[in-house]
Formats: sequence, C-alpha cells, structure tokens
Amino acid sequence: MLCAGFLCQGQANEHGAVRRLSGVGSCTPDEWVEGRALSQSHRRLKFLRDGSLPFTNIVRYEPGPPTAALMPPGKCVLGAKWLPLPLLERHAIAHDVVLLTFGLLNAQQPLGLSTCACLLAQAPGPRNAATQTPVVRPYTPVSTNAMRGKFQLMVKVYPDGLLSRHLAALPIGRTVAFKHIPVNVKVQYPFHARKIVMLAGGTGVTPMLQALHALLGTSDDATRVTLVLSNKEQKDILAGSILDAWTEAYSRKLRVVHTLTREPPASRWRGRRGRIDKPLLEEYMPRPASTSGALIFVCGPPSFYETLAGPRGDKGLSGLLAEMGFRADQVVKF
Ligand SMILES: Cc1cc2nc3c(=O)[nH]c(=O)nc-3n(C[C@H](O)[C@H](O)[C@H](O)COP(=O)(O)OP(=O)(O)OC[C@H]3O[C@@H](n4cnc5c(N)ncnc54)[C@H](O)[C@@H]3O)c2cc1C
Repeated sequence: MLCAGFLCQGQANEHGAVRRLSGVGSCTPDEWVEGRALSQSHRRLKFLRDGSLPFTNIVRYEPGPPTAALMPPGKCVLGAKWLPLPLLERHAIAHDVVLLTFGLLNAQQPLGLSTCACLLAQAPGPRNAATQTPVVRPYTPVSTNAMRGKFQLMVKVYPDGLLSRHLAALPIGRTVAFKHIPVNVKVQYPFHARKIVMLAGGTGVTPMLQALHALLGTSDDATRVTLVLSNKEQKDILAGSILDAWTEAYSRKLRVVHTLTREPPASRWRGRRGRIDKPLLEEYMPRPASTSGALIFVCGPPSFYETLAGPRGDKGLSGLLAEMGFRADQVVKF
C-alpha cells in the first residue's frame, strides 16, 4: 500500500523557484471546487532538465493482490454526460508518472466499470489549438470495483502534454469531468481464451493491469498470459514491482517480458533491448497455425498500434501481427 504519511511537495526547479505541486488531501463534497479558470494551471508545471517532474517523493505503486471485482457493461456510475469529479489525492509513482485518486458522488458506490474499459477525461483549461474545444483523452482506471467512493488513474505526464500536465498540476479538490460511453468497453471478461499475449508500450500497461486483476484474481481461470512490455528506459517501467510480485505469485499463469528501447548501453540492464519486432513476437506468440483459443491485446502510443496491428481506429488488422497470420478477431486494440 502507499505509505499513509506520504507528502508530495515541490522542490526547486531549474529556475530555482520552489513550488508546492501537490499534497495528500481529501475533501468533502462541500469543499469541491468546480474546475473553472484552470487554463493557466498546466503552464505552472515545469519539468527538470533531465525530463523528470520536480516531485521530491516517489512512492511505489503497490495495490496488493489481484482482485476480480467484476461488473457487466452498463453499470458504470458514469454515463454519456460529463460529470465533474474532484481530485482527492496525487502521488508521484515514477519520475514522470502520477497516481491520481478522484472522488465519486456516492462514497459507498464503486465506479462500476466493466473489464476492460476506459473513461474519457476532459479538463476546462487546455484547449485544442485548432478547434479551441476542450481537450478530451481516454484513461484506463487502475483501481478495481473493490474500491468504494473513488477510483484511481495512473497518468504519465508529457512535457508538452495538454491534459497530462494539467492533471499533474491540478490543485487537490478541483474537478475534472469524466464520462463513459459504450465504445469505451474494449473487451469483456471472461475473455474465453486459453492463452493471451499482451503487447503494451509505456502507459499501455494500464488496461493490461485491469485485465490481470480479473484473470489472476479469478481462481478457476486457467488462461495463460504473456505480457510483453516495451519502455524507453528502466525508470519508465510502470507498476514494475507489482508485476514482479504477481509473476512470482502466479508463475503458472503469468510471464512478463520487458524490452527497453533507449536504455543506456552501459547500464546494468540484463533484459531485452530494442522494440517489439518480429523475432521477439515469434519467440513469445503462439504459432499462427495453433492460434485458436489465443487472444492478443495491444495498447500503446499510435506508432505502436501501427507497427503491430495497424491504426487503432481501424477495425481491420495489418502490421506485424497480420504478417504473422493472425486474424482481426484475435486481436483487441485498446
Ligand atoms: C484506450 C486508451 C487508454 C489510455 N489510458 C491511459 C492511462 O491509463 N494512463 C496514461 O497516462 N495514458 C493513457 N492513455 C493515453 C492518454 O489518453 C493520452 O494520450 C496521454 O495522456 C497524452 O495526452 P496529453 O494531452 O497529455 O498529450 P498530448 O498533448 O496529446 O501529446 C503530447 C505529446 O505526448 C505524445 N503522446 C501522446 N500520447 C502518447 C502516448 N500514449 N504514448 C506516447 N506518447 C504520447 C505526443 O506524441 C506528444 O508529443 C490512454 C490512451 C488510450 C487510447
């Protein structure tokens, strides 16, 4: 669990200014502040020269054992209308990643999200330059429905990211609007597969964590899972300690393969290096001839989808997986 006494404070940035960026806090509905006039908040957040955020305390993300708290689609407390929800807590869990806790209207209710599904977040501040409309981005909660009255997002903050920088600088108690629409449900547990290969790039691990909660947290589920996780450097691996713990505890069901694309050559990293390519896939994927009963989950940045499975919005399959003989109905693009 995250340490209870955690405090996250700003430190001197490269200009010597001391900023208090965030803090642990909870607030009652009376204290909730409608998210308005926030257009400047994302501009306040300054990255350090090495590309990291100026957070002083980085805590480990340790959600405990996998938990299958399953809901069918259509039960989410969020719907097609934007609902402003307050930011309750923020913790830095990596050099550029924050764990955000948002409060729900009913403290007894879970989010009620099905597995696997994402939410849409919209902030009133940052706007798309071309359309001048508020920025909307999908995020996959990493908490399960066992959590009541709140939910958690794991968000990587990009130096030029419109919404992620806004979320990293948002004052505790201010709101972000969320909604959930049917198209946000990507696949429904149980997945009815003997074997699942998860291909994830960077924050693409978040829907995989959601799926792993269900797969590993259901004791009579015999699905075997290989998670191939691509990151730039060791410090970018999200939820690494929890994946290690789950791999050890569920060694018959889960195998995790890391590959790093920009790890310094002189580092002590003994794992794989380079992008997810055909030789790597051939090593870990089921053979195309024996693909019945296999499912492949893909989530990552746009170029990740394009290389492996074709554009995210394209229902068809192209890229390396198509070349290897997989069919579109065997591949889930998150
Ligand atoms: C289904 C789905 C679920 C997602 N879940 C999560 C999640 O749980 N946590 C999370 O942090 N993100 C998640 N994302 C990514 C998220 O929606 C945003 O794309 C991301 O936060 C960047 O938004 P931004 O407005 O800050 O950056 P933008 O202003 O859109 O872009 C800023 C810079 O970041 C780069 N960039 C944008 N998105 C990505 C990316 N995904 N990978 C690498 N570089 C990128 C852009 O090329 C650009 O240079 C998810 C995406 C999808 C499609």
